[in-house]
Amino acid sequence: MRAIADEVRDAGEAARLRGRILAWEIQLARARNDAARITAKLEEGLALLEELEKKGSSGRALSGYRHHLAHHLTQSGRHDLTLPILDANLAAGGGSHGDHGCTWMMHAASVWTRDRPRTLALLREARDRDPRDLTDDFRIGAFDDVQDDPEFLQAISRR
Ligand SMILES: [Zn+2]
Repeated sequence: MRAIADEVRDAGEAARLRGRILAWEIQLARARNDAARITAKLEEGLALLEELEKKGSSGRALSGYRHHLAHHLTQSGRHDLTLPILDANLAAGGGSHGDHGCTWMMHAASVWTRDRPRTLALLREARDRDPRDLTDDFRIGAFDDVQDDPEFLQAISRR
């Protein structure tokens, strides 16, 4: 499948395809509870990102790839690896993730253990930008220890 993706001429399209193949492989590894394979595939994903950045890729294909990779890393609790990726997308977006509540949430999760004020600011952005109620997204592993923290609840709650 990798060969098929490599045959595609357009670099952005090739990257998109390779990213999708990787996503399937990660999902499959997850379904099989194969932790070693998940780790290997995430590393492959990071290597692909590095390759794309070296090639000077930019624009929506690159930011889309970063976004999906961030989701996979977040799902595996690798917030340390997610942070530089989301920071790069934030810089590319002129300081904004736009209306992608999930991106602001992932970003908040990745800075939470080192920067409380920034985490709260990112959670407020998530709430203000996304029309959905993100309270359920807040009830995930990364925020386990602040589920009852009034400042956090206020940042994410619409009430
Ligand atoms: Zn997303």
